[in-house]
Amino acid sequence: MDIELIYKNAGAYLEGHFLLSSGNHSQYYLQSAKVLENPRIAGELAGELARQIRSTGIKADCVCAPALGGILAGYELARALNTRSIFTERVNGEMTLRRGFEIKKGEKVIICEDIITTGGSALEAAKTIFKMGGQIVAFAALANRGICARFFSDKKSKPGCKLPSDIALFALADFEFEIFSPDECPMCKFGSIAVKPGSRGN
Ligand code: ZN
Repeated sequence: MDIELIYKNAGAYLEGHFLLSSGNHSQYYLQSAKVLENPRIAGELAGELARQIRSTGIKADCVCAPALGGILAGYELARALNTRSIFTERVNGEMTLRRGFEIKKGEKVIICEDIITTGGSALEAAKTIFKMGGQIVAFAALANRGICARFFSDKKSKPGCKLPSDIALFALADFEFEIFSPDECPMCKFGSIAVKPGSRGN
């Protein structure tokens, strides 16, 4: 599967001058919601992710996604793996399981995101599930920003990756975009102003 092409064809691989939530700037941005607005493509991507996970022998009872970004990817992955699908959400900054969702003791859980950057939200969701007695068997995402090493790639994790090294991360592709601090951003030097992705129609 050519994940980059799928993102580009869906208008989800944005080129411009973006202000990231970290405060840094980037010329590129992945808007997974644009890929996932087509349920057929969402199903195909999740199906491929499920195939990779199954091929390692990892089995899960449940897929849990951190809201909001991971919910659609997590739901489709759960469908492909024939497991339950739940999500965590932040309440006063703390990742929690609400809406009557439960975890049985020892239940095997995959934490699924749309994109893994440092894995911060995925790790928070994992800790929430772990505290409730669940067992985290894998992390999964459609796209990986290349900071955390993914299974089936020989690249190593970089400083900044928050995911534990003893639990596999599955993702369909690495997208390693250069990130600039505002002081060193070449686009800013040309007088361009960084915009928050999601605003101004992107
Ligand atoms: Zn800039």
